[in-house]
Amino acid sequence: MFKSIRSKIIVIYFLLVFIAMALVGIFMINQFETLHINTATNTLNRIVNNIIKPEISNVDFTNYEDLRYEIQKIPVLPGDYRILMIDANTYKVIASTKNDSRLIGKDALNNLNKEIISNASKNGYMKDEETVKNIGYIYTNEKNQKIIIYGKAYLANIYEVLNESKKIFLQAIIMALIVTIILGFLISKTITNPIKDVTSKASKMAKGDFDQKVDIKSDDEIGQLGEMFNYLTARLKNTLEEISSEKSKLNAIINQMGDGLIAVDNEGYIIHVNPTFIQMLRIKEIDVTKPVYDDMVSKYNKNLTLKYIKNKNISQGSEIIKIENKDILRANFVYLKNEKEEVKGLILVLQDITEHEKLDNMRKEFVANVSHELKTPITTIKSYTETLLDGAMDDNEICNSFLSVIDKESDRMARLVSDLLQLSRMDHKKNNFNSSRFDIDNLIKDIVNKLDISFKEKNHIIKMGLCDKNIIINGDKDRIEQVIQNILTNAIKYTPDNGIISVDIREEDEQAIILIKDNGIGIPKKDIYRIFERFYRVDKARSRDMGGTGLGLSIAKHIIEQHGGDISVKSEVGKGTEFEIKLPVDKSVDI
Ligand code: ADP
Repeated sequence: MFKSIRSKIIVIYFLLVFIAMALVGIFMINQFETLHINTATNTLNRIVNNIIKPEISNVDFTNYEDLRYEIQKIPVLPGDYRILMIDANTYKVIASTKNDSRLIGKDALNNLNKEIISNASKNGYMKDEETVKNIGYIYTNEKNQKIIIYGKAYLANIYEVLNESKKIFLQAIIMALIVTIILGFLISKTITNPIKDVTSKASKMAKGDFDQKVDIKSDDEIGQLGEMFNYLTARLKNTLEEISSEKSKLNAIINQMGDGLIAVDNEGYIIHVNPTFIQMLRIKEIDVTKPVYDDMVSKYNKNLTLKYIKNKNISQGSEIIKIENKDILRANFVYLKNEKEEVKGLILVLQDITEHEKLDNMRKEFVANVSHELKTPITTIKSYTETLLDGAMDDNEICNSFLSVIDKESDRMARLVSDLLQLSRMDHKKNNFNSSRFDIDNLIKDIVNKLDISFKEKNHIIKMGLCDKNIIINGDKDRIEQVIQNILTNAIKYTPDNGIISVDIREEDEQAIILIKDNGIGIPKKDIYRIFERFYRVDKARSRDMGGTGLGLSIAKHIIEQHGGDISVKSEVGKGTEFEIKLPVDKSVDI
């Protein structure tokens, strides 16, 4: 009920005023009452001592008539006072200051206060009866006669005045309290309104609206509170803006990073996960309301589950994940700890190392291939040389035949080394092309002419579909020749005798399109996407027999791509193979 400051202030004001006024009222009325009673007592004493006693000092107390006469003679006393004379022996009322015959002759002990009469010898003994003050004296006259003087002061008027005063005072208190309530209400408003303002603005701030400012209307404590509130709001706004900008930067970094990242708490609830992580693990949907981490990773590698890591008490580590036997991921994890070194969760980062692994494997395979390719001719050369040195040299025919084998194997090694050097130069982009503008039609004609003997050896029919107009290429003529010659040589190599080999050239969309087609053995589907790889050969023994190194097509692809072109292959086993080379046409100036 009295929760609000306003009601508390009003109640406090009310109580303060009420208590203060009540105390003042009680004190004043008490003092007033005491004063009046004392005044009545003094008046009674004065009447008795100064008026009654001198008046009756010569009177014979046995002569009641005289006494009555003397008493009646006394000037009229204030209406509220009465003096009675009582016989000290018989206790009969003898006389009264008021012409009051009611008590005269009556027994004082029965009609007046007994205590006063019996204690009258104490001279001035008092006893109050409701609104009457009684006082008793024993007076001895000059004849040594005793009489009891009984004084009465009627205080009803005084009490009436006092009661009236109390009523007036009560009314004054009520009025003061009403004024207090009104003033309290108004004063408390000046205190509570700014507080209410600060409270309502603070609640808006709590909901995220930091554009709150309170009006400062005074420089007292409430004004200072408002100033501090405004300062706090501004600081809070700045700090939150900084935090939110840092957070969004961090989120942007985490969401854009190429590595997958997930942060989970100690129970496996997801705190943060980036899109790369979801993509890498091919996850369809994640329920962040459940502790799903262990279920999610246990499919790929049980060693990454919180259960396992907690059991083994590992603080960080690295594991390999394989996704559908395709992607290879490295999962690095570390435990999140707070300042007290308590474990609070785990961060796991996924790196796609598929390419890295592939390259590593390729490198290993390449080294193995080179070693293997060199080992065969070296072994041949070594064994033939040893045989010659062991005496075969003396036989002229054997010597010639062995030397020609050694020569052939040396050529193979030289070709292999030269191909490898060329590839290495291209890999390191050190291949400085000797560029010039040339007509591709003419180049193809020259190549076909050069290979004429080879075509004839296998009785191949060569069909040329050349273009009417000149197609100009800007590039290294020797390299392009090397490519076309390699493809034509392969066509001859892998097409049985009497086969048909065709070379077509046309211009389309500013590109020279060269098609080299044969109806030879073809390439199986499973191998076709790999034939541009280094050392890849469909039939290794056959290729080697034919003097192939398995590097020709990979060199060709490099050269064409570095000229801004493209090379592709279509083939069907038993039906033949078709290579398509695309090269950009140089349109700058016609020759
Ligand atoms: P090689 O020196 O072995 O010919 P290449 O890189 O030139 O090496 O060719 C790679 C492989 O592609 C060959 O070993 C062969 O298996 C296959 N190939 C290339 N051209 C043809 C073709 N016209 N017909 C059938 N197979 C071919």
